[in-house]
Amino acid sequence: MSAAEQSVFAKIVRGELPCYKVFENDSVLAFLDINPLADGHTLIIPKRAAATIDQLPDEVNAELGRCVGVVARRILRVTGAAAYNVLQNNGASAGQEVPYVHYHVIPRKPGDGLGFRWHPGKRTAAEFEALQAAIASAE
Ligand code: AMP
Repeated sequence: MSAAEQSVFAKIVRGELPCYKVFENDSVLAFLDINPLADGHTLIIPKRAAATIDQLPDEVNAELGRCVGVVARRILRVTGAAAYNVLQNNGASAGQEVPYVHYHVIPRKPGDGLGFRWHPGKRTAAEFEALQAAIASAE
């Protein structure tokens, strides 16, 4: 079995572990994060096991994205939050702890103290153009 298939989220999909389910359809499941950053912090996952979104078929990614919006609307209504972060980590170096695709929806309120600040860099025009050409022409 792959790391994704062995992971805790695959066990939740297979019904081997419980979860606080808030949404389900044929291909997507959403449940409350067990260590929430805020009330309503929810994880949205595909039922098809994969470690990172690049490994999923495009149609699964499309449905997953649609369901993130559906679940986010419900969370906003219930929590009264007007803001939220959508966080989606791919790979350990990106902070992914569970090797199974998941989107976090994290409701945010003014002064919630959660913070979120990265440190943007600078690039020359030549560096941008080289990356632009490489990514735009990649398969
Ligand atoms: P990440 O760092 O993006 O891989 O986040 C993994 C998230 O999964 C963390 O926020 C954990 O709190 C959450 N998590 C781990 N195990 C469970 C579980 N059994 N049920 C719900 N959430 C979980």
